[in-house]
Amino acid sequence: MGRTLLQKVWELHTVRALSTGQTQLFIGLHLVHEVTSPQAFDVLRSRGWRVAFPDRTFATVDHIVPTRERRRPFLDVLAEDMIATLERNCRDFGVPLWNVGDRQQGIVHVIGPELGLTQPGMTIACGDSHTSTHGAFGAVAFGIGTSQVRDVLATQSLAMEPLKVRRIRVTGALPAGVYAKDVILAIIRQLGVRGGVGYAYEYAGDTVERMTMDERMTICNMSIEGGARVGYVNPDETTFTFLRGRPHAPGADAFDRARTWWTSLASDHDAPYDDEVEVRADTLMPVVTWGTNPGQSVGIDEPIPAPADAPVADRAGITDALDYMGFSPGTRIKGQRIDVAFIGSCTNSRLSDLREAARIVRGQRVAPHVKALVVPGSAGVQTAAEREGLDDVFRSAGFEWRDAGCSMCLGMNPDKLEGSQVCASSSNRNFKGRQGSPTGRTLLMSPAMVAAAALAGEVIDVRQVVS
Ligand code: SF4
Repeated sequence: MGRTLLQKVWELHTVRALSTGQTQLFIGLHLVHEVTSPQAFDVLRSRGWRVAFPDRTFATVDHIVPTRERRRPFLDVLAEDMIATLERNCRDFGVPLWNVGDRQQGIVHVIGPELGLTQPGMTIACGDSHTSTHGAFGAVAFGIGTSQVRDVLATQSLAMEPLKVRRIRVTGALPAGVYAKDVILAIIRQLGVRGGVGYAYEYAGDTVERMTMDERMTICNMSIEGGARVGYVNPDETTFTFLRGRPHAPGADAFDRARTWWTSLASDHDAPYDDEVEVRADTLMPVVTWGTNPGQSVGIDEPIPAPADAPVADRAGITDALDYMGFSPGTRIKGQRIDVAFIGSCTNSRLSDLREAARIVRGQRVAPHVKALVVPGSAGVQTAAEREGLDDVFRSAGFEWRDAGCSMCLGMNPDKLEGSQVCASSSNRNFKGRQGSPTGRTLLMSPAMVAAAALAGEVIDVRQVVS
């Protein structure tokens, strides 16, 4: 009987089985940022402990950094305190830090892959839910809380519950105007935001096999939004081509040895799965959320659902979400007016996302009532985009072009919604208040859909403008 990638990586990283039924897993790579690490470092300091593996630990700043005015000290005293604390912790504990102004700074889930730190077969941990992104490389990547950040800093290991594996096979050609973001939103809609609890999601099928690494990262990024603990894609030539030559990837001969090893870690053809799901890519349309979780979504041509049409257990939640969003059952998401357009976040702020959005806005103008911003996921993405002139395309169209960071994905930096603004967003979370205003409203969609909405001033079907 074959084994899945999850089983292979799990066994290879097992330190010991714990009496709790958990496994103590060695963590190959620990990524750290400013928000979830201060208390963890405090514990180490108070106990006189060191970071167990500083050479496997890397830090960056992303959540709280301003994306426009970055002079120090930051105007926000709390943000300045957080970044100063991370600087001190990294200095004291010997952890490399990519700080504001460094070429490598950026959203933690963008820079890991970009620098070649993220590699197949690794176990990865980071104090951020969307660590699942790194699974796109065939890594097993856990988003963890502050107490677990402490555990990894101190021991380079984690106590983890065993996981079942659900293989999600996506097959067929994606229609023009339908993207990886639509695939993952459709999967979450189909399986539910808690459908993945207790599972690792293995994404497979010819659609996924044809996807670029950027697209695979978008899908794996949102695994956690579907309740899955991790999500991954088996490593293949696309993975290896992406990694070759990256600063932290194995060099020259070592790369070829690593590639043989990585290939052996992919799930065997006769591996057993706890569950299997099929998704037809060629039937998908652009997906937009209408509610307050990523599973509350519709295809662009579909009406917003009525509570009465849903299972009894879901009705109260749907009613509450409709009230908050100000939407009526039966109306269309297409045509809903927006106030803000945000292209960014660890889901969709990579070069290919910006290229596709720029293709849509080139030579056009943002609607007069819309505030539109593009926030590259990393300084590296920013530099590459500027080299191609994408910043000019966006600026000429009326977008703001910002420096790298999490920005309006969450309300922890100056980029926030105001009042009850409606934001077309390429990010990954839409709960009440997520974008910084307690009454702000988020519509999740692909970056191409955000670009099209920015121009129209309302949600439109991007299939009308791309071929
Ligand atoms: S972009 Fe959003 S989801 Fe991603 S790491 Fe930053 S805050 Fe978290």
